[in-house]
Amino acid sequence: AEALRLVQVSKTYGTGDNPVRALDDVSLSLAAGTFTAIMGPSGSGKSTFLQCAAGLDQPTAGRVFIDGAELTGGSETALTKFRRQRIGFIFQQFNLLPTLTVLQNVTLPLRLAGKRADRKRAIAILERVGLGDRIGHRPAELSGGQQQRVAIARALVTNPSAIFADEPTGALDSRSARTVLSLLAEAVREFGQTVVMVTHDPVAASYADSVIFLADGRIAGSLDRPTAETVA
Ligand code: ADP
Ligand code: ADP
Repeated sequence: AEALRLVQVSKTYGTGDNPVRALDDVSLSLAAGTFTAIMGPSGSGKSTFLQCAAGLDQPTAGRVFIDGAELTGGSETALTKFRRQRIGFIFQQFNLLPTLTVLQNVTLPLRLAGKRADRKRAIAILERVGLGDRIGHRPAELSGGQQQRVAIARALVTNPSAIFADEPTGALDSRSARTVLSLLAEAVREFGQTVVMVTHDPVAASYADSVIFLADGRIAGSLDRPTAETVA
C-alpha cells in the first residue's frame, strides 16, 4: 500500500517582488512500511518538504495524500484532527513537554487524538525503547538520547500512518544517534511503520531503505539501499 503520495507539489514563500520557490513541482510515492531519508544541501527545500508532506503547512499548489486520504484543500480543523490521529513527529530538539512525566508525554497524543490514554500500551512502547525504568521522570532528568527515545515512543503510541522526523539525530552524540536510528529502523521492520526522515548525516541516511535527494526544491535523484559511503 501507499503511505505517502505527493502530486506536483510546489511551495512558494512570500509574494510580490521576491517570492521564493522552496518546492518546485515535486511528485513522489512512498510505500507503507518503508524508511526514507531526505537529503540535500541547506536551502534545498528539505524542511519545506517535510512540513508540506506532514500537513504542518499547506503547499501553494499540488496535492498530498497519506494512506489515500488527502491532506490538501481541507479546513485547518480537519487537518489538525488528521495529524493527531494519523501522523507522528520527531524533532531535532525532542520537543517534550517539560512539566509532564515521560509517561504523560507518551500518553498525551492518545488524549489529543480523542483516544483512551492507554497506560499499558504507552508503558509497553517505553519498555521497547529501553525506558521502562524512567516513566516517572521529567525530560530534564534524562540525557538527550533518552529524551529522543521518549519522543519516538510518543510518535509510535497512536500507531500513525506515517512518522516524520526532522534531523532526529542532529542534537545527539554518535552512540545515542545509532540507538535512535536502530529504533526507527526497527519500527519499520517489525511494526510496519512508515518513516520519512530529513537528515544531512550520511550515517543516519544509511539506516534508511532509500534516500531521496533534493536540490533547488526539486527531486535531483534517489538511491536504494544507501550506505554511508554511497550517500556522502
Ligand atoms: P532546507 O531545509 O533544505 O534547508 P528549507 O525548506 O528550509 O530548506 O528552505 C528552502 C528555501 O525556502 C530556502 O531558500 C529558504 O530560504 C526558503 N524559506 C524557507 N522557509 C521560509 C519562510 N518561512 N519564508 C521565506 N522563505 C523561506
Ligand atoms: P503486540 O505486538 O502483541 O501488540 P507488544 O507488547 O509488542 O504487543 O506492543 C504493545 C503495543 O505497542 C502494540 O500495539 C505494538 O504495536 C506497540 N509497539 C511496541 N513497540 C513498538 C514499536 N517499536 N513500534 C511500533 N509499535 C510498537
